[in-house]
Amino acid sequence: MNGLPATDWTIDDIVVGSTTKTWLRSKNLLPSTWNLPPDEIQKIRQAGIRLTMMYSPASVLKLRPNPLKDVAAASLIVFDANAFDDDQQSREEKIATLLHEIGHVFHELAPKKSVIEALKAEEYVAAMDGQNESENAADDFARKLGYGEHIATSLEKLKTTCPEKFNKPGVDGRIKRMRK
Ligand SMILES: [Zn+2]
Repeated sequence: MNGLPATDWTIDDIVVGSTTKTWLRSKNLLPSTWNLPPDEIQKIRQAGIRLTMMYSPASVLKLRPNPLKDVAAASLIVFDANAFDDDQQSREEKIATLLHEIGHVFHELAPKKSVIEALKAEEYVAAMDGQNESENAADDFARKLGYGEHIATSLEKLKTTCPEKFNKPGVDGRIKRMRK
């Protein structure tokens, strides 16, 4: 049906490394708890998306044996355990952040629109607003799965905690879009 071999694969197999799996389980954040619909799980599987964490400011990810079950090439999403350990972000805001990153992969994989099409689309208005098409596409993916408001509240918190990076007009635009 999807061209992939039938295996005992589950969405939690996108998590690379037993440390990350244990850590996510301890925080009740394993992908199998995100309430994703089966078709989105298949899309994530087919896109070769993988998820792992880093320790700030840097850490080594050992791939012995290769844990990238079921893919020849992967888009590895790395999250910062220190930032995720911070209870300033709620569980749903953390999931929204991970889905936003998955949304970036889908946006990169999607066939690119022609300039003419892009000019017709709402991205044009967004671009005029100083917003970024790829951020919007990633936000839309999280919103489609029910985490739009959590993207907005997460960004609101980040504006306060990391003002140099997030207290920007583009971020205000993203918050507004999630609430339209
Ligand atoms: Zn982004």
